[in-house]
Amino acid sequence: MRNFLLGCFAFALNLPVMASESIHWGYDEQISPEHWGHLSDQFKSCDTGKNQTPINIQNTYKSQAIHQLNIQYKTSPNDIIFNGHTVQINTKTNDHHDYIVIDHDQFFLKQFHFHTPSENQIYGKQYPLELHFVHANKKGELAVLAVMFNLGKPNSELSKLWKDLSPEENKEKTFSQRINIEKLIPRNHGYYRFSGSLTTPPCTEGIVWIVLKQPLTLSPQQLTTFKSRLLHQHNQRPIQPLNGRIIIED
Ligand SMILES: [Zn+2]
Repeated sequence: MRNFLLGCFAFALNLPVMASESIHWGYDEQISPEHWGHLSDQFKSCDTGKNQTPINIQNTYKSQAIHQLNIQYKTSPNDIIFNGHTVQINTKTNDHHDYIVIDHDQFFLKQFHFHTPSENQIYGKQYPLELHFVHANKKGELAVLAVMFNLGKPNSELSKLWKDLSPEENKEKTFSQRINIEKLIPRNHGYYRFSGSLTTPPCTEGIVWIVLKQPLTLSPQQLTTFKSRLLHQHNQRPIQPLNGRIIIED
C-alpha cells in the first residue's frame, strides 16, 4: 500500500499538542469517518464528542456583542505538502506575523489546508471547496477560520499553490514565489461562530470555529487539480449533530 499509510496522522497540525503516533485513518472503507472513534483510544472524541465539527450552519443568533473580525495575514507562507489527507500550507515556524483576533486574544496562523466538498454547510448548502486556516493562541488553544469556494473565476493564489505542490506525497516544498494569503480571504468579513472540534482524528474539541459568510471562487480546473491528489477525490467528514450548541453571527 503506497506511501499513503505513512502519512497518516503524523501531519495534523504541526503543533506539540498533537500525538505523533501513526494511526491509519481516511475517508473511505474501513477507515472512513464513521470508524474513526474505534481506530484508536486517542480518537474516542470522534465518537463520543458532543461538540463536533462540521455542522450545518442554520438557525443562527445575531449578536451585537461580538466584535468585527480582525484578520492580519501579512507574510508569505513557507512550504506546501500533500500529507495523504489534504494539501497543507505551513507558515514559518514561530512566525507571529499572521494572526486573527478573537475576543481580544491573538490566534497565530500555523497552517491552512483544503477539503472537497466543503465540510461545514451553510443553510444546507455544500460548497465545492472549503479552506481551513488553523491558528493557536499563546495558551495553545485553537481557532479555525473557514472560507467557502464556489466554482467560477480562478483564484490567482490557488494557481501558485498548486504549481509548487510536489507530485510526491509527504514531500514538503518551499514556495518559489510569494503567496498573498489575503487573496484567499473574501473582502466581507461577516461570519458565523460556534464551538467545535478538529474535523480529523483525534477530533479534539474546544476549538473556536469562524466560518466566513462570503464565498470566494475557484475554477473547475483548479478544483480538479486538488481532487486528483486525493485517494478517492474527496476528504470531507459528514455533518455532526449540533447537540444544543448555539451558532452566532455578527
Ligand atoms: Zn480542515
